[in-house]
Amino acid sequence: MKHLGYNGRAAGASASRLIAGSACTNVERVIRPLFVAIVGLACLAAGCGQSVPGPRAIDLGRSTCAKCRHVISSLDAAAQMVYKDGTVRLYDDIGCMATDPAALRGTGELYVQMAGGKGWARAEDVTFASPAGARSPQGYNYFAFPEEESRRLAPDHWARGWHDLVTELGRKR
Ligand SMILES: [Zn+2]
Repeated sequence: MKHLGYNGRAAGASASRLIAGSACTNVERVIRPLFVAIVGLACLAAGCGQSVPGPRAIDLGRSTCAKCRHVISSLDAAAQMVYKDGTVRLYDDIGCMATDPAALRGTGELYVQMAGGKGWARAEDVTFASPAGARSPQGYNYFAFPEEESRRLAPDHWARGWHDLVTELGRKR
């Protein structure tokens, strides 16, 4: 991803130099659309405007939580922060990330696993609920759901956003 992004920018720079050039030759007429196509493809592959790499796969039973150091044994409430340079901080519990000062400085992209290990989503794109009886690895007991589901499952019927959750868990500690 990172590599492709770099190529995309490099190709973009070359293309603008070409377009700015005064020479109007057959070669340029062929090269220009070619560059536009290449830049477009590189953009698509890298996810244009998204400079932070996507979430990394967690090695269950081996990866450890950046905050509490426990081995991550379930994806159910897993979370991670990915920095622009590709390094990551993994968490066994969404609550560990929500209470980790390093994750709250906002220098990386935050991802959470959807409840039941259904896949990664940006923390800002989903909502959180603590269904009655549900237990997360470190006892924060919050899981990520689509908005409708959070509203249905949360005992208070409030589909909390990421910042609501951070505030809430910050108060408890
Ligand atoms: Zn943890």
